[in-house]
Amino acid sequence: MSAAPPSFIPPSRLLLGPGPSPIDPRILQAFTRPTLGHLDPVFLKLMDEVRGMLKQVFRTQNELTFPVSGTGTAGMETCLVNLIEPGDEVVVCVQGYFGARMADIAGRAGGKVTVLDAKWGEGFEPGQVEPLLKDRNVKLLCIVQAETSTGYHQPVKEFAELAHKHGALIVVDAVTSTGGIPLEVDGWGIDAVYTGTQKCLGGPPGLSPISLSPRAVEKLDKRKSKVQSWYLDMSLVRKYWGADRAYHHTAPINNIYGLHESLRIVLDEGLEARWQRHREAHDRFAKGAAALGLDFQVKEGRRLPQLNAVKIPAGFEDKPGRKELLEKHGIEIGGGLGDLAGKVWRIGLMGYGARSEVVDQVLVALKALLKR
Ligand SMILES: *Cc1c(COP(=O)(O)O)cnc(C)c1O
Repeated sequence: MSAAPPSFIPPSRLLLGPGPSPIDPRILQAFTRPTLGHLDPVFLKLMDEVRGMLKQVFRTQNELTFPVSGTGTAGMETCLVNLIEPGDEVVVCVQGYFGARMADIAGRAGGKVTVLDAKWGEGFEPGQVEPLLKDRNVKLLCIVQAETSTGYHQPVKEFAELAHKHGALIVVDAVTSTGGIPLEVDGWGIDAVYTGTQKCLGGPPGLSPISLSPRAVEKLDKRKSKVQSWYLDMSLVRKYWGADRAYHHTAPINNIYGLHESLRIVLDEGLEARWQRHREAHDRFAKGAAALGLDFQVKEGRRLPQLNAVKIPAGFEDKPGRKELLEKHGIEIGGGLGDLAGKVWRIGLMGYGARSEVVDQVLVALKALLKR
């Protein structure tokens, strides 16, 4: 008798939570292709194509644009540990769970962190941030564009302008925004941005594309202290992704095949068309949700189309509701985090999931659940 368990066959699920999102079968096929060596000339050419496509998706000319090996949080940590030197003044805008994570990491990197808090489900106006930047020699301003824990869409362009006016750099969390809503890295003057593969880019988790502006690279080059993380030290990793091709760590080869296919799909569709598709899926969902008597957590005009946080109606409970959707309908949605735990359900309509037939499927399931 064999001691090993049987091969794992996952059940069929419709992933409509805060990520991972449903995956286009083309991307899964790309994952199963034979693994190459990480210095194979054919693989190096693929890396260049990935960088070229990432620049188009981020809308940037930044030379230092490539995927960090690790999930979205690795990209967050990369941007922060590379751009913060011990003692640097850092301002972090916290309007939910992921802003709070940025503040935690910025502090661990040695930053002197000032947190600006917003109520969960709300965001920031530039006027609130400016007093914290004025005459304080702030080095870094950190903000989340798409706060997945609340569904709030935070405009960031004016914050980039403010940061520069006061001599600071800006880091933007674009994990849930990239590919789902407009993001203009060069157009808005963003200095450091990171995303993840498993949200609106539509692939499995595992990589975190980042991009650093020339201003950010200059700060990195002028550091007096070494970056505290060896693995995420961009002054080392860039030698592999750049012209030197020097071994740093073994690239997650098949993950990069998958990212390559995801980016091809994004660019084939076109960014504007993709943003529009997310918008339409949201509008369809919002109409259906209103008919079911569901209220959104975030006010109209600031809702993320790709992450719909609806208040759990009186008489219903978070976990049993989600359990029923999963077990009876095969649909995964998210519960609330932090201040919103037990209060909202989060319905993600990201990437391959942002389609009308998917919206209709979740509305039918919600209707069946709420009927009782
Ligand atoms: C998902 C997410 C992250 C973290 O990404 P992981 O892939 O879970 O590490 C960071 N920020 C935001 C806004 C996210 O939605």
